[in-house]
Amino acid sequence: MRTDHHDARLAAFLDGELAPSAAAALAGHVRDCEACRTEADDNAEIQALLAGEPTPLPEGFAERVTRRAITQMLPIAPLWWLSVPRSWRLGLASLFVLAAIGGVEVGRHTGSPAPSPETLVATLASPEIVAMRSAVPAAERAAPPATIPLQRTQP
Ligand SMILES: [Zn+2]
Repeated sequence: MRTDHHDARLAAFLDGELAPSAAAALAGHVRDCEACRTEADDNAEIQALLAGEPTPLPEGFAERVTRRAITQMLPIAPLWWLSVPRSWRLGLASLFVLAAIGGVEVGRHTGSPAPSPETLVATLASPEIVAMRSAVPAAERAAPPATIPLQRTQP
C-alpha cells in the first residue's frame, strides 16, 4: 500500500535519517496510521530478507539466462548508420556496393595471376625452402601431403 502523505519523510524515518525530534513525531504517527504502519512493516520485512543469507542460484541459472539473452538479441544497426537521414541511406549503401565492385575489378586487373601447380611444386622443392624446412625440428613440421594431384581445374 502506498502512503503518499508521508512518502519522503517515511522513507527517511525508516532509513534512520531523521533528526531525533522528527523521528519521535513520525514514530507516533506510524503507530496510529495503518497505511504507514503497513509500509514500515513491509520495509522491515525487506530489510530482514536482505540481511539474511543469500539464496544460492539454481544449477545452470547463469548459463540459461545468458543463452536466452543471446538468442533473443535483435540485430542492431550501428549507431552511426542510425544518425544518417533515412533518405541518404540508399545512396550510401549504393556507394558501398559500387566501391566493393570497383575494388574487386581493380584487384582483378592489377593483381598477379595465380601460379601454376608446377610453379608451386618447383618453389617448394627450391633449395631455400628445403633448407628452411630442415631447420624446423621434425616434430614441429606439418606433415607433407601424401599426394598432390596435379590437375588443372581451368580449361
Ligand atoms: Zn500515515
